Amino acid sequence: MLLDLPPLTADRFAAIEDRVAALLRTASDVIVTQGEALLPLEAAIKGAAHPGSTALNIVTGPYGQTFGGWLRDAGAKVVDLAVPYETAVSAEQVAAALDAHPETGFVSLVHAEAATGNTNPVAAIAEVVRRHGALLMLDAVASVAAEPLLTDAWGVDLCVIGGQKAMGGPAGVSAVSVSDRAWERIAANPAAPRRSYLSLLDWKERWTDAGRTQLPHAPAQLEMLALEECLAAIEAETLDAVIARHRAAAAATRAGVLALGPLTRGALTPYVTRAEDAAPVATTVRTTGNATELAAEIRRRAPHLPVQAGGGLLSFTMLRINHYGPAATPETVLAVLEALAQATGVPAAPAVTAATEAWERAV
Ligand SMILES: *Cc1c(COP(=O)(O)O)cnc(C)c1O
Repeated sequence: MLLDLPPLTADRFAAIEDRVAALLRTASDVIVTQGEALLPLEAAIKGAAHPGSTALNIVTGPYGQTFGGWLRDAGAKVVDLAVPYETAVSAEQVAAALDAHPETGFVSLVHAEAATGNTNPVAAIAEVVRRHGALLMLDAVASVAAEPLLTDAWGVDLCVIGGQKAMGGPAGVSAVSVSDRAWERIAANPAAPRRSYLSLLDWKERWTDAGRTQLPHAPAQLEMLALEECLAAIEAETLDAVIARHRAAAAATRAGVLALGPLTRGALTPYVTRAEDAAPVATTVRTTGNATELAAEIRRRAPHLPVQAGGGLLSFTMLRINHYGPAATPETVLAVLEALAQATGVPAAPAVTAATEAWERAV
């Protein structure tokens, strides 16, 4: 059934782009890119960061480090603003960095970090960036459908999303919205990719500006259909309800971890210090024991639970509980907390009670 489909028409492709634009609350052009979200992230940076320009790269997790590499590849002078992973960056820190480097023309920021469990105050940061006159690129892969994402109201110039986190959709297609200011800057960049899979300008010329009547390449049809299905599911549940479900999952998980803390004599504590900095897609837990062994022990008991150790050096001290998409449910959150309690040899009941109450307060 999946192998014998009629071709995806240009009209249907354009309609999917329009639904993504509605999800992002933007009237700007949206291009649904035919690859995983790293494709539009790299395309946005290589297109918008001019050689010899200065870019402020805000690092609140591993993706910020990736962006710094691309910015340097693009020939930009990179100013890294890094904050500890247990916090968020503040608008004041961004303002101070821009004051120290007034020539900054481009700012890259991750909204929510699934890998470290924090989320950044984009509305306030975007205001500072806009006042400065720089372009703002936002990686919203882990925030779209999990928390409010107001691309135009906030003044985000390049907003990148993927379907694989809170949208509960495919990883094989992604999207970027491009403001008029961003198009101007990309068009004026002599080093912006052209005749390349990374070229946003190619898509603009051959697809968007040409009236979206003929696709330049065969689309990733199955992934586009999956994206269409997950947009329909979000629209049916309503975006507000999907966001509330993620907010509740994060509040419940955090409350459960806080309840387990004293029982485990402090072996488990929320990694992100302040609740308001915690991302709705994933809750990270600081462990005194080896987090990789703990994750393996949980998976031995319950192989399907969305629990993993942190990446790289964090694999010793960070346990990551993903609660996005179909996992943003009370059942999954409670099952994870029960498995976590069992794996650490403490009773689960206090965590279950705390999580259930927190869920009810949050929705
Ligand atoms: C998940 C995610 C991506 C997508 O990257 P993968 O490594 O392919 O999962 C990009 N940015 C952020 C912030 C993410 O959380």
